[in-house]
Amino acid sequence: MKLVFATNNPNKIAEIKSLIPFKIEILSLKDINCNKELPETQTTLEGNAMQKAEFVFDNYGYNCFADDTGLEVNALNNEPGVYSARYAGEDCNSEENMQKVLQNLEGKNNRKAKFRTVIALIIDGEKYLFEGECKGEIIKEKIGEKGFGYDPIFLPKGFDTTFAQMTKQEKGIISHRGIATRKLLNFLQTI
Ligand code: IMP
Repeated sequence: MKLVFATNNPNKIAEIKSLIPFKIEILSLKDINCNKELPETQTTLEGNAMQKAEFVFDNYGYNCFADDTGLEVNALNNEPGVYSARYAGEDCNSEENMQKVLQNLEGKNNRKAKFRTVIALIIDGEKYLFEGECKGEIIKEKIGEKGFGYDPIFLPKGFDTTFAQMTKQEKGIISHRGIATRKLLNFLQTI
């Protein structure tokens, strides 16, 4: 089976490829000659994930899936949530986003947070959603060089290493995207 993963994020492609068995061939947007920025204008993770998958299915005709992920910080009213990619401004990078989270949490005792991923799948026009979440806390300073995004400041519950200190495989066992991906895989085995 061939499935397009509708993302321009090479880190996500690498993570998903480490989780998906070889009999499912994951194609990137580059593989299907799509160089466009995917639309992401909805106000929920579900809406954005489906919008990206629909864009690829409607314009390129491939069975595909897309994910949308948000970091929800308890003491910040679940911000940055669906706005995680541009928390510090339109053209900001992960470093600036992490600094904004750390600044907004200064002086707060409650540092609980969770990552939530929604995967939208479109197969022959039929649409499905899968969700995964990972609870943890935001530490005070970045630790670790691996991973991407907010990984260096996220300590998953029950672990003493951040996501950025874990290999892709270790992160995938407990992560939001790993959990949502396994639900996707279980479903793909039934069709
Ligand atoms: P999106 O799903 O690409 O919209 O991601 C939203 C934001 O969350 C981006 O800033 C990503 O870098 C970040 N992000 C997504 N997945 C992860 C993850 O697994 N760990 C850390 N940050 C992530």
